[in-house]
Amino acid sequence: MITPPETLEAIADRVRACQLCALAGTRKNAVPGVGSPDADIMLIGEGPGHHENEQGLPFVGASGKLLDELLAGIGLNREDVYITNVIKCRPPGNRDPQPEEIDVCRAYLDGQIALIDPRVIVTLGRFSMARWFPGARISTIHGQPKRIGARMVVPMFHPAAALHQPKYRPLLHQDFKMLPGFIAQMQSENGLEGDPEQSLEQLSLL
Ligand code: URA
Repeated sequence: MITPPETLEAIADRVRACQLCALAGTRKNAVPGVGSPDADIMLIGEGPGHHENEQGLPFVGASGKLLDELLAGIGLNREDVYITNVIKCRPPGNRDPQPEEIDVCRAYLDGQIALIDPRVIVTLGRFSMARWFPGARISTIHGQPKRIGARMVVPMFHPAAALHQPKYRPLLHQDFKMLPGFIAQMQSENGLEGDPEQSLEQLSLL
């Protein structure tokens, strides 16, 4: 018998019930992710902060406000994209995610990527960047896409970095402005436009 593919909602349920690492003991709400299951763009941040932990939604604090502004700058809103994080639970005191936490959470992110099958993945900050660009420096490679199969992965500064260091803000806006062109390029190269069947066939883990 063929097992049907898991749904995004089923992954979200598993995330909310997850006990795989110690963050389960300190979180208020796990934060699976939000947005369109058919999104062309998937944005991957670091991990929930205070407000995200309170609400169970990603990027709802100050960084989220800037993210909304960046999306609006290219004519998009949250419902047009999918937003998630490398780790789904808040590290106490907003410390950096630990390698073991990233490892145990990886299966959730893999599942989300496989189901959404976005044309473009935007990594926000160094923790999501490290998966596809190990050892790279964000200040050197931001905005430079890497092709992986039928998609592009584009490293960008984390919105929080741009809030702390205003010089990064125009760079982040510039990098976002390139996204519509990257999507159009990947769609035309892969003949995916308007063909959801083909998109399903390409459903695969990175
Ligand atoms: N920072 C992140 O990386 N993710 C969030 O969801 C919020 C802030």
